[in-house]
Amino acid sequence: MRDKFDAIVIGLGSMGSAAAYHLARRGLSVLGLEQFDLVHTKGSHHGATRLIRKAYFEHPDYVPLIERASQLWGDLEEQAQRELLVQSGVVIFAPPESAVLAGVRHSAALHELPIEEVRAELLAERFPDFALPKDYEAIFEADSGFLHVEAGVRAHLDAAREEGAVLLDNKAVLAWNKHAQGIDVVCEDLTYCCKQLLLCAGAWSASLSDVEHFPIQVHRQIQAWFKGREGFDVKSGSPCFAFDLPQGFHYGFPDIDGSGIKFACHEKGLCLKSADERDASGIDDEVKALGGVLEKHVPGVSKAALRARECLYTMTPDQHFIIDQHPEAEQVFLATGFSGHGYKFAPVIGEQLAELMCNGAPSIPMDFLKLRF
Ligand SMILES: Cc1cc2nc3c(=O)[nH]c(=O)nc-3n(C[C@H](O)[C@H](O)[C@H](O)COP(=O)(O)OP(=O)(O)OC[C@H]3O[C@@H](n4cnc5c(N)ncnc54)[C@H](O)[C@@H]3O)c2cc1C
Repeated sequence: MRDKFDAIVIGLGSMGSAAAYHLARRGLSVLGLEQFDLVHTKGSHHGATRLIRKAYFEHPDYVPLIERASQLWGDLEEQAQRELLVQSGVVIFAPPESAVLAGVRHSAALHELPIEEVRAELLAERFPDFALPKDYEAIFEADSGFLHVEAGVRAHLDAAREEGAVLLDNKAVLAWNKHAQGIDVVCEDLTYCCKQLLLCAGAWSASLSDVEHFPIQVHRQIQAWFKGREGFDVKSGSPCFAFDLPQGFHYGFPDIDGSGIKFACHEKGLCLKSADERDASGIDDEVKALGGVLEKHVPGVSKAALRARECLYTMTPDQHFIIDQHPEAEQVFLATGFSGHGYKFAPVIGEQLAELMCNGAPSIPMDFLKLRF
């Protein structure tokens, strides 16, 4: 005998955990299915930290979503009784002609966000920990910072359970089929049934989406940790940072708990045939390159990495997310293609998906994220 749920969420990572909570909170009976352990290192939600920035250079329409996400992170912190969002500030260093700086200014102006502009000649005095080319400018956002990533997923999972959601780990979904009574979700040992289905399968989305030529690619990204120097840490007030360099957009986090400075490059890494493919080729070279860039621009940091971890980006062609109803099944919803910048939005994506599924529309406009390729 199969239980029938109001909603099934496939994938309990960053987005699925948040959506399961917000759906259950609205009184729906929710089943969440995760193919691996809950909170794991094979997808996109590991590595300790994620940046959160508000004056979003990628597209100004993300700003209302980030503002709501910041409130929801705060609510979740209260519920979980632990810190999830740390307002360390984020400084972006870039040449004057940088599209990144132009994008930050545009979003800040449109949404009246406070930013601090630092001219090239004042950079060394304002940010003495960093060394950039002479013409580089900076924009500092004091109320931005970073999120504790695994803890955030755990907090959403705990909150979903408290609202009555049933969450199953090591339960891979093999397929789903719609029929007149609802949707069957097929696992190896059992088939579950629901009225509405939400696919939050991250890097595994293409195979599950049942959309021909689904426009996502999976890229292997490297995050590496380096020994910093005394005083370059969150406790001392050091900010998160990003460099818009000719060799790519790089970003990093000051030491948080003695585990080192995390540093990574946001350019697309090695393209994989599938999320299950593991290819270690070139990792050593990538880590070495990261160490070189970091040592050059944060003097005093040791360029030998303490450790490095792979993580997956699920990229769309224009690097904007895909959040929409399935084109051929109106009871099925897609949330994927977070293109290496989705984590900060997790609670608001969960909330807006719940509104879309319960009320037929989100309360914050998200049309620019509809399936469009
Ligand atoms: C190195 C790195 C740095 C990043 N930095 C930032 C940052 O600074 N700021 C930011 O905002 N974002 C950042 N991101 C992006 C952010 O982490 C991702 O956009 C976000 O985690 C994507 O969430 P998701 O739920 O789509 O994927 P995931 O969190 O990976 O969740 C998908 C889940 O679905 C499960 N699943 C898949 N298929 C099935 C199936 N068939 N059955 C059951 N379960 C299934 C998977 O196992 C997985 O747990 C970064 C990502 C990486 C890799």
